[in-house]
Amino acid sequence: MDPTTQTLTQLRHALRHGETTSVAITQAILDRMTEIDNDIQSYITITDEMALEQAAAADARLAQGQDTPLLGIPVAVKDIICTQGVETTAGSKILEGFIPPYDAFVVSQLKEAGAVILGKTNTDEFAMGSSTENSAYFTTRNPWDMTRVPGGSSGGSAAAVAAGLAFAALGTDTGGSVRQPASFCSVVGLRPTYGRISRWGVIAFASSLDQVGTFGRTVADCAAMFQVAAGYDRRDSTAINTPVPDYEAALTGDIRGLRVGIPREYFVGGMDPDVEAAVRAAIDQLAALGAEVREVSLPHTEYALPVYYIIAPAEASANLARYDGTRFGPRVPGREQIDTVKKTRALFGPEVKRRIMLGTYALSAGYYDAYYGRALKARTLIKQDFQRAFQHVDIIAAPTSPTTAFKIGERVNDPLSMYLADIFTLSLNLSASCGLSVPCGFDRQGLPIGLQLIGNTLQEATILNAAHAYEQATPWHHRLPPVGQPDNSAATSP
Ligand code: GLN
Repeated sequence: MDPTTQTLTQLRHALRHGETTSVAITQAILDRMTEIDNDIQSYITITDEMALEQAAAADARLAQGQDTPLLGIPVAVKDIICTQGVETTAGSKILEGFIPPYDAFVVSQLKEAGAVILGKTNTDEFAMGSSTENSAYFTTRNPWDMTRVPGGSSGGSAAAVAAGLAFAALGTDTGGSVRQPASFCSVVGLRPTYGRISRWGVIAFASSLDQVGTFGRTVADCAAMFQVAAGYDRRDSTAINTPVPDYEAALTGDIRGLRVGIPREYFVGGMDPDVEAAVRAAIDQLAALGAEVREVSLPHTEYALPVYYIIAPAEASANLARYDGTRFGPRVPGREQIDTVKKTRALFGPEVKRRIMLGTYALSAGYYDAYYGRALKARTLIKQDFQRAFQHVDIIAAPTSPTTAFKIGERVNDPLSMYLADIFTLSLNLSASCGLSVPCGFDRQGLPIGLQLIGNTLQEATILNAAHAYEQATPWHHRLPPVGQPDNSAATSP
């Protein structure tokens, strides 16, 4: 059997029982990259030599009967997460050639768990975007339809997992960048509670919203990756110092009596009818599994987009001030220091420049109270909406994205239509909730649709279990994208 079509969980079993080796699997993935990643372009950097060394070391440990949670499993890391000795660009020319001297917390966690790191996946520049089209390097293609985007900003990670180019991957989600690409690529993507995973070594976009998330082909795979990534570390002062539960053991598949809220405000106008039908059918399926479905209200939903697009650019403008040609990455020399800074900062792409301008404006004297100050107040109202809803329900179910994957080039010149791709995911980042996207069907054109499940603070186990129960009752995760398949007809039969 082709190892690249297997799940992380199956592979872990096969490795532990000596049925295959990490080197064999890693080589199979690297071969598949040679075959199809020139077209998909999910990776910016492929660390093939290092991956094979890590795989050989894992095999040696497996042969000695050693065991760690991801021993010998090949995974991918979004290129906004620092990897010691491996170029980390954040999808930007301003960090081209930047080789971090240390590993991010999450990367250390992966290494400690025995994972094999295949490389760094494509991202919109500084994770600003919903399609990877804002990457300074190239646009990743959606493995389900190569004329379409994979979503973003963690589009490289989602596409790699969907196409069998990694068994799991790390992403980051500031406003939807794990869940939305997961939905576009038919994989599972989890955005944990703010603070659940230390962000030490993750290049900052908007510090009050950023969080690392995990991708897997199945819920169990996504949970296995999350299990390893989750944790506290003193070097991130926002990390939550509370024990990490056993997420994998929480996947019982029993959701009888689980109270599921459907937000009234998420089912109004503008949604693709195929998406709405699939999400409604998924909610019926949760009810058939014993969940109690009821309506809830998140009345300040309409403010999420404007609030996010004030707070995120404001924080970004402050975070990105450090790229001045002195401390990181390339330096474009000018006559005086100020010229150097100007010329170097011209390396930022158009979307990053737009955000810096928006953010600087919103923070400037005279406008601060009118924009940033008011956005913070509205954020509190959005947060309270969720707190109120969670007094009545255990989880909230909604679409992940209002549409399926759009065409490459279709929205890139219309920032507002691009921003709307995250209309259902942004609120969660503004609150203290966690959320995931799980595949829930395909539209008329065969493009994937995602169901978003949102949980209260630190209730990742609850949403993962609900997603697992749903997944076990539905066929969607068995479908593989047509790319690189010997027989394309296999891709359409569940
Ligand atoms: N698409 C949103 C943005 O461009 C969210 C990005 C993210 O979550 N990193 O800001």
